[in-house]
Amino acid sequence: MDSRMRGNDKIFFHDRQAPMATPKTIIHPMIIATTDDALYDAYKTNLEQQGFSIARARSIDDIIELIAQNPRDLIALDRRILGNDIAAVIDRIREREKRMRIVLLYDDDDAAACCGFIQQLPIHACFDRRDPVEKFVLCAASVVKNLPKIDLIAQQFHKIKEHIKLSEKNKEGLRYIISAMPETISRLQPLDTFVRGILIQMCGFLNAEDSFLATVDENEKLILLVGTGQFDVDEKTFLTLPFHAQRRQEIATALTERKTTAAEHYMLIPLDVQGEAAGIFYLEKPGAVIEALEEDMMRLFASQAAITIENSNLFKLATQDGLTGLYVRRHFFERLTDNLQYASRMGGQAVSFIITDIDHFKSINDTYGHPVGDKVLTEVSATLRSKLRATDIIGRIGGEEFAVVLVNTALDEAERIAEQLRAEIKKLSFTHEGKTFSVSMSFGIAGFAAYHIDRRALRNNNMNDHVLHDQKRLLAVADQALYQSKENGRDQVTVADALSLQR
Ligand code: GH3
Ligand code: MG
Ligand code: MG
Repeated sequence: MDSRMRGNDKIFFHDRQAPMATPKTIIHPMIIATTDDALYDAYKTNLEQQGFSIARARSIDDIIELIAQNPRDLIALDRRILGNDIAAVIDRIREREKRMRIVLLYDDDDAAACCGFIQQLPIHACFDRRDPVEKFVLCAASVVKNLPKIDLIAQQFHKIKEHIKLSEKNKEGLRYIISAMPETISRLQPLDTFVRGILIQMCGFLNAEDSFLATVDENEKLILLVGTGQFDVDEKTFLTLPFHAQRRQEIATALTERKTTAAEHYMLIPLDVQGEAAGIFYLEKPGAVIEALEEDMMRLFASQAAITIENSNLFKLATQDGLTGLYVRRHFFERLTDNLQYASRMGGQAVSFIITDIDHFKSINDTYGHPVGDKVLTEVSATLRSKLRATDIIGRIGGEEFAVVLVNTALDEAERIAEQLRAEIKKLSFTHEGKTFSVSMSFGIAGFAAYHIDRRALRNNNMNDHVLHDQKRLLAVADQALYQSKENGRDQVTVADALSLQR
């Protein structure tokens, strides 16, 4: 007999193999809470085209009145109507409407604070109101997209929680898992930050060592996202593990038929994203038996991971340039801000900033055509990416203009790196209709020898204002250096003097 408890002990997933269906055309009732008429009009027009029905609120009282009339899926909540005690207002709203997703709209003045709220408050996304409307539509759609699935997960999760309270197994781990579910899963966030923590806690909680979460590429090759125990290896080593031969059949069934294998000592669960297996969650307990309740936890985790993967693809869409895969301008500068703050927290690290621009790019387009120009852009981007460290941040900040933040790197080292990039780019060779040509790039570099903001000396100004100001200086000085490289004949690197810490 199967040693696991079954029958009455089965808590959820009525039909364990069936994917949870998401209806195709749903109208999402939504509130836009703002006093800004222009913002409201732009959002309303675009959102209505995407199947949202919009109601307007101008104050907190309006919001309360609207949710008393009808439940809503989503609210876009302008930070400006919230006053100072944001937490109290959010509580007041959520007291009356727990299910509604909240997207906080912020701008320059409180970007840092709002990005902090998302960690502490039951908010599902923060959105910079200066960003394009289309990006907001994407954000809104993704936040409500999996609402039916998430509702189901929440119910199941609630049941599991009741049962687990009785066993009191690993309180700390459980608390972590609970805090990450299901409130947070519809947030737009990078994938690994979400799954890594949960997977590790899940292993601790289930008393298992070996587990992993992998996505799958177009060729059905598994790409390791995060692993524990024997799977805590790099992507390449992962593919050489005996696991792949041992579980060949189960992997194939999971990927082609989206079927879960629940064996005594291991589980292999496909991650269902829009009816396709987007990856696999695997966990094993050699020598121990997986109990029904543990199995349920794992299935729950797999559904959440699938939603997170879906959302992170949307996150990618919003942050990565379609042609080159590099960060888009806005996201690149957000990352630069993060990096300056980090350098300061570390007690003053060096930060170098490179701007680089393809020389006479217009004539490449004119001579060989736009598609060839695009090919040059993708190859140049791939070269930059491959010659830089994974921790360096690269963005496409203009048509044929790129920028790089070199983390913890002094100016002379940055110069050496830029010279290397310049040489590598010149080695690229392009052929079009029998004609071969190459390209060159000009570089400008600026940087801080040791970036540090003394918090005690800040007085009224907040830290973020300082960082944004310094960021503008970096950009201006590097731009000036790039201009000099162009003036002096292109295909060269110019380094500006280290910037001072003006206070
Ligand atoms: P310089 O050496 O001074 O930088 O000269 P340049 O010709 O590179 O500079 P300019 O700014 O005059 O021209 C940039 C060109 O880049 C013009 C624009 O059509 C082209 N461009 C911008 N984005 C793209 C793109 O996505 N694909 C292609 N193929 N061309 C692009
Ligand atoms: Mg150019
Ligand atoms: Mg240019």
